[in-house]
Amino acid sequence: MKVELLKYTEGGIELVAQSARVSGVPGGMSDEEIVRMIVENDYSSALEHISFTFNLSGISVALSRELLEHRIASHTARSTRYQEEEDFGYYIPTEILKNKRALENYKKAMRELSKTYVELRDMGISRESRRYVLPMAVHTNYVWTVNARSLINFLGLRLCVRASPEIRELAKKIRDIVVKIYPEIFESVECRGKIMSVCPENEVRDSPQGKDCPYKIRSSKAFIPTKRDVRGRKDW
Ligand SMILES: Cc1cc2nc3c(=O)[nH]c(=O)nc-3n(C[C@H](O)[C@H](O)[C@H](O)COP(=O)(O)OP(=O)(O)OC[C@H]3O[C@@H](n4cnc5c(N)ncnc54)[C@H](O)[C@@H]3O)c2cc1C
Repeated sequence: MKVELLKYTEGGIELVAQSARVSGVPGGMSDEEIVRMIVENDYSSALEHISFTFNLSGISVALSRELLEHRIASHTARSTRYQEEEDFGYYIPTEILKNKRALENYKKAMRELSKTYVELRDMGISRESRRYVLPMAVHTNYVWTVNARSLINFLGLRLCVRASPEIRELAKKIRDIVVKIYPEIFESVECRGKIMSVCPENEVRDSPQGKDCPYKIRSSKAFIPTKRDVRGRKDW
């Protein structure tokens, strides 16, 4: 997976602060202080004036479907109607990579699908019809534009240990890029439990994915309670 930042709103801190001043903020605050105050208190509409456009390559179609669920963004995907997918690249989940037999089976399935795709072409079948044999793992290219507020929402959801590994990897790469550009906005952004200091994923702590959550150990300083903990309800 490759994540490339194509464009972003420059001078964003000044822009957000300027728009916040139109709305009304205490006098004497610097631009940076205003932006930090907005992020901390979730007065986030002013953050919508900053946007980022990413070129995502080598992501699976399965991931692109998850990305499309983030409706407050603009999406352009590589077309399987207009582009040939002969010799397609594909995503291999880590779990399969670690299992030699599973990996062989997985690769065999991909080879067979690729072969069928080409055979259908040789039978004169259109690209539009042939594409239905392509797997969810097939690599696609994607251009994604998202504003800073929506990006915080995306990162909060997709940096969670419960998110699928591929979209989590994407979220980490995107965060690494944007935190360097606007640390005032993104350096406090992690999973939404961390953002809100309370984890809405009541069930995750006890699930297999929950074992990877760095915030679940009660005795540690990093502990973040679930909503259930906060409300003191053990009987849910
Ligand atoms: C761990 C995990 C598991 C998931 N499992 C599933 C699943 O099993 N099935 C599934 O379909 N999806 C699943 N999703 C996707 C999830 O339900 C959301 O669709 C996705 O994360 C996009 O989030 P969003 O709606 O906040 O983002 P956006 O669509 O970008 O919306 C941003 C915010 O705008 C507001 N908003 C947007 N559209 C509306 C609207 N129509 N009405 C009211 N408010 C709106 C909401 O406040 C929303 O949070 C999962 C996501 C995660 C992280």
